[in-house]
Amino acid sequence: MNKFNASTSRRKLLMLAAAALSSGIVPVVGHSDDGGREDNESHNDHDAEGNYASGNNTTMALENTGLTGKVVVIGGGMAGVTVAKYLRLWGGSGIQVTLVETNPTYTSNIMSNLVLNNSRSVSSLNYGYTNVANKYGVVVKHASVVRLDTASKKVTLSDGSDLTYDRLVVAPGVDFMDAYGLTQADYETKTPHAWRAGPQTELLRTQLAGMPINGTFVMTIPKSPYRCPPGPYERACLVADYLKSYKGSTSKVIVLDENASIQAEVANFTEAFQNIHRGVIDYRAGVSNLQINPDTKAVSYTDQLGLTVAINPHVVNPIPPHRAAGSAVGEWLASASLNNSVSNGVTDGRWCVVDVLNYQSTAVADVHVIGDASSCGLPKAGHVANQEAKICADAIVRAIGGQQPDPAPVANSACYSPITANTASWLTAVYQYDASTRKMAVAANGGLTAGAKATEASSISASNFKQMSTWFNTLMSDSFA
Ligand SMILES: Cc1cc2nc3c(=O)[nH]c(=O)nc-3n(C[C@H](O)[C@H](O)[C@H](O)COP(=O)(O)OP(=O)(O)OC[C@H]3O[C@@H](n4cnc5c(N)ncnc54)[C@H](O)[C@@H]3O)c2cc1C
Repeated sequence: MNKFNASTSRRKLLMLAAAALSSGIVPVVGHSDDGGREDNESHNDHDAEGNYASGNNTTMALENTGLTGKVVVIGGGMAGVTVAKYLRLWGGSGIQVTLVETNPTYTSNIMSNLVLNNSRSVSSLNYGYTNVANKYGVVVKHASVVRLDTASKKVTLSDGSDLTYDRLVVAPGVDFMDAYGLTQADYETKTPHAWRAGPQTELLRTQLAGMPINGTFVMTIPKSPYRCPPGPYERACLVADYLKSYKGSTSKVIVLDENASIQAEVANFTEAFQNIHRGVIDYRAGVSNLQINPDTKAVSYTDQLGLTVAINPHVVNPIPPHRAAGSAVGEWLASASLNNSVSNGVTDGRWCVVDVLNYQSTAVADVHVIGDASSCGLPKAGHVANQEAKICADAIVRAIGGQQPDPAPVANSACYSPITANTASWLTAVYQYDASTRKMAVAANGGLTAGAKATEASSISASNFKQMSTWFNTLMSDSFA
């Protein structure tokens, strides 16, 4: 197959994967700025405890499957909102689902790097909970979970109320750790990580806009696993593109990577660093002992040769190590022992280890963990979170019906990475369950193949950039519409 045909068919495959995400009943819509709307006000078929009145009033006619049960979902991000919707769609009207989400509006991290070069606004990335409440009859409660009692199957919310459950789905995303001499307050006000889209994304955009001509921007990348493997390299490219376009051709983007090498889309990011953004991006791998002064912005680190290096940039964007949200000592997730995985050697205790057949915690019964908070061998990505949510929803519905989970789940992952303001690369993979390791592994040629890797775009192109919107809108519709 010649190069053109290979790339064309890969693109088609990726589009098919994106299209397959949207089941026939889900319309494709763009973003919504309707955030702010209080879902519970317009959805009155449940009492304050979240218990349903009979014959609940959803615009989607849900089947009465005969299954009954009470599921609480913590976190209304990519994983949580998807599992809530599909539990109702597949489980039917007798499965009561309550979604607890801190914020009235979700801001997508996906595409948020495009805020930095002014291609998008933060508000264009906002999604509301009206659909999941009104269309599917999910009870949405805007509060934070502050306590989790897995013995009595009860969660306590920040408004003081309790919710009991038969099954709990934990999908809170990540928290960012104090690192490199920086605190949470420094991230909020001086050295934003902007690795959760929102005010920090705006702050970083403002700092970039205020950079002097031919100034220096430093960003750091934590050791894997971290949220969105290609994301930091994508950010480096977009910042470089912006700086050389508006702030001088000898501007510098110094990328300090705690990993030994680029973690995703190696060929295309190498091409971007060495050719497209040549002379602007300075990629330095294998750094350690990072220290950042939030006031002077002075950065120091140890390089691969063991030498101490000091830099004095104008703007610093640290992406600190992260962990399952709520899992720091004394927080609600830690007290539930969900991330007590240090001893089993699977993770370092930052993530909640799960069985990938049903996403049930290996530590606590009837609790499932999906999305970035889980440790399951799949990349921490929004598209993957959507897939994990569906496998989990299916497994919970089966369990309520007295069945075993699907013994051979399959998930796909797709991700577009803008390289400039109008070109992009992409990465895609199909993951299949490997019964010998009890993990999900990249599949190739229709089956498990040793050493198979995710496929990246054969080139960086403007047409990839155009397809990116279709993929993004389809994914967000499948989760939020
Ligand atoms: C810059 C950037 C670019 C990215 N690009 C891509 C991409 O191109 N493709 C891709 O697939 N992925 C991408 N990602 C990754 C993607 O955003 C995450 O993997 C995804 O959001 C994870 O979903 P989640 O549901 O686990 O967490 P989140 O989406 O973060 O959702 C967690 C939710 O839980 C809520 N919550 C937390 N604690 C509580 C509590 N105690 N009580 C109630 N609610 C709570 C939060 O408010 C939040 O709404 C990107 C990430 C970044 C930062």
